[in-house]
Amino acid sequence: MKTFSKKVDLRSRKEMIEYLSSHFRYNTMNSWNRSTSYANNIKIYNLCLSKADEEKLYELIEMSEFYDRLHLFFYEFGNRHNFLWQAGFNGRSGGYIVLYQGYAKQSDYKSFCASCGQRNYKTVEETGNCKCGRCGKDSRVNYQVPPMEYGTYPGRDTDMGEDFEDWDIYSLRERVRLVQDFDRFCDDVLSEVRNILDNFEVDEDIVYVPQTVKRLREAS
Ligand SMILES: [Zn+2]
Repeated sequence: MKTFSKKVDLRSRKEMIEYLSSHFRYNTMNSWNRSTSYANNIKIYNLCLSKADEEKLYELIEMSEFYDRLHLFFYEFGNRHNFLWQAGFNGRSGGYIVLYQGYAKQSDYKSFCASCGQRNYKTVEETGNCKCGRCGKDSRVNYQVPPMEYGTYPGRDTDMGEDFEDWDIYSLRERVRLVQDFDRFCDDVLSEVRNILDNFEVDEDIVYVPQTVKRLREAS
């Protein structure tokens, strides 16, 4: 399996700049937006897999369960960087993992419905009742702590066209550590893909879905 992480001498300005400026980059949005950031190519043919594993992986990427297992790694990466930096898939069929600038902030929600989960911008006191606007049940309660809201700035590039010449050594080190952590995270994602390939099979089931149909009946 392909790996991306590299050793970099954090005492050497030259080596750090070389690492940052030669790192693979990809669009943060699309090709006409022109913003790019640090990225890694995880297209299936780029992963050094056997033919059988490649075929299996093509099946896996059609499954939402597959992404559910990888999602935790993306969350952990964002969490390590206070969500100011996040990782995400981009490219057709998600063939690239890209480093994004992002944010985490307390949302403005004040209450939620304990029955259906619907969120509300007003407290129970402000609306004068605990009725839920969606399901109509009297089960709306105030948040003790408002939930966090996460997002990225997909239009923002990172270090695009940067030559790093006027960066001091501390800023350089900090950036290198970030990009190294991003590379390691991509390796962790691929290790999990390896784990799924080795330990799981794709089962096919036919599911019969109950359906309500209307028919005409002659009135007696
Ligand atoms: Zn509700």
